[in-house]
This record gives sequence, C-alpha cells and structure tokens, in this order.
Amino acid sequence: MKNYILDMTDNQFKVAAKSIIDKDYRLNQVIKWVYRNKSDSFENFTNLPKHIRERLNEKFLLRTLKIVNKEKSKIDNTIRYTFQTLDRKYIFAVFLSVNDRSSVCISSQIGCPVMCAFCYSGKVKFIRNLSRGEIIEQVLQIENDTGKRITGVLFMGMGEPMLNFTSTVFVLNSFLSNKEFGISKRHITVSSVGIVPAIKKLADKNFGVRLALSLHAVDEKLRERLISNNFGFRIEDILDAGKYYIKRTNSHLTIEYTLLKGINNSMADAHKLARLLKRHELVNSNVNVNLIPLNSLVNVKFQPPEHDSVQKFKDILRFSRMTVNIRQQKGIDINAACGQLGY
Ligand code: SF4
Repeated sequence: MKNYILDMTDNQFKVAAKSIIDKDYRLNQVIKWVYRNKSDSFENFTNLPKHIRERLNEKFLLRTLKIVNKEKSKIDNTIRYTFQTLDRKYIFAVFLSVNDRSSVCISSQIGCPVMCAFCYSGKVKFIRNLSRGEIIEQVLQIENDTGKRITGVLFMGMGEPMLNFTSTVFVLNSFLSNKEFGISKRHITVSSVGIVPAIKKLADKNFGVRLALSLHAVDEKLRERLISNNFGFRIEDILDAGKYYIKRTNSHLTIEYTLLKGINNSMADAHKLARLLKRHELVNSNVNVNLIPLNSLVNVKFQPPEHDSVQKFKDILRFSRMTVNIRQQKGIDINAACGQLGY
C-alpha cells in the first residue's frame, strides 16, 4: 500500500523516502512541489530525475480526496466543496473571498461528535477524525481549483478540531511553516466549543493563531440543550481557558454566539454575557464577540432572530465596551454558511 505523503511531516517523509532521496536539496525540491506548487502528480516534479519520480510514484500517494460536488454562490462567490475520502465518506470545505483575500473554512472530522442542535454538521453521525493529510489536502485542492493563493484558514467546517488535537497540531505546523504554506498566524483561526484541556495544551504550544470559542449561551442548562455533547465543560471553565489562551499566546480570542430567536437573544442574555466576560477579564483589545444570526435551515427547529433584536444585542455589548461584530452571511444560497455544512 502506498504512503500518503501529506500525512507525513518533512522528517517522517525523509525517513520513509530515504531509499529514493538521499540528498537534502532533493528533499526540499519535493516539499516545494507538494506544498508550494500544489502539484498533484509526481510527473510534474520536473527538476527531479525521471527514475526518482517513478519511484516516488510507486511508493507514495499525493491525493486521497475527490471533489464530488462544487456549488458557487450567486450572491457572493463563495464556493462549497464536497470531498469524498478514500473510505467513501463525505466532508465539506468552503472557499471564501473577501476584499481580495482568499480563505478556506475546513473540516477536521467526518461528522461531529458535539452535535449542536442548530448545526447541520452536528446531524452527521461522527465517524472518525481526519488525518493531517486530509485536512491539508482540502486547502491544496481548493487552491488548485480556484487558482487563488489561500492566505487564511478557519477550522470552522465539520467537526471539533480540539477533539482531533494531534492532526490539528500537525496541520498548524504545516500552515505556519515557511517551507510549506507560510500562512500568517493572524490569519488562522481554530474554533472550539470549549474542550478545556485541549485549549490549554494549544495555548502552551504557543502557535499564536487565533482562537474562537463557541459559547452560544450564558447559562449551563440552555448551553447543554444547544450543545448536545459539550463533554461536561462548564461556561466558567471555558472562559477561564480563553483567558489562559490570551495570556500564554498574546493572541486574539473571539467569542462566538449564535443568536436564536426566543432562545438566547433577549436583552437579559446580552447583559449577562457582558457581565460574564467582564468577570473573566475578557473585555480588552484581544477579545471580540462575534454574533451569528442563525442561518435558516430546513429541518432545524430554531428560528433566525429579527434584525432589530440583533442590533439591540450588539448595542448592549458595545455599551459594555466590547468589540462586537455581526457575522456576515456567506454562501447562504448554497448552504455554505455557518452551521449549514451537512447533507
Ligand atoms: S457548530 Fe461546530 S461543534 Fe457544533 S455541531 Fe456544528 S461543527 Fe460540530
């Protein structure tokens, strides 16, 4: 069986390919073809001798994902990709283009064990974690398909990246490495529902990437209802982990809050959220709150909030000196917006 090259770090590849490549400059040439030139065939590695290309082809695989569906938004040029894995499962990624910047929202698992009640991905049965290569390949294939250089990555597709910690760390190393992707840490966001020990471990690794914590509720009972499997982590501990993350990395934290009509969007909820963040010293220039009005979905029992209530919620937080954004809906017409990735 062939080895999937994207599953390997440079050093692991060096060991696996030592009978084929014995010089460092050859190794660097391969790495450049794989990550910088995004080549999907060893045939294209034209500065390597033919016999090396042939042996690499015998021993290694460059791609395992197949694009089986692609839809482009007529509203904002967002593209939703459906990939099939080698074991015939489906994952999703979204290409986003804002002000000439190209980003990709990627999946980290097949299905999602967290099962948020308002999210389509949460309705897809969890099957397994994605490997380093399967996560990276989403970006490579989208770069090839769109012809755009990807300069931002969001771990906000299907799955909870902090439950796939090992692959996420391998992938972050690759995204940040100048030999591989060379993406700025400021343009990488890891999203989590609040897997406290993993967030602290990520903080200790000090990659400096942005962290987004999905809070969605200000009291435990409601949060348990909205996030069916929150792995027992409490709001207080999650916010403390967020504070720890900022302290360790001096990076940026976003508090994600999906607004659901009549469920968590009252003015009292907004005041409580403001008090909570203050108590956890999360009102400062490193923190912003991202309000996400629910994207309407067929088959989900919640309603989007009225425009007015979103504005009022925002005003209350701003009055408490918080930086607040209302998430722009992207790819709403092709089910590519937040919470819409599923089948
Ligand atoms: S919102 Fe995120 S964590 Fe929740 S079910 Fe969807 S993909 Fe999973």
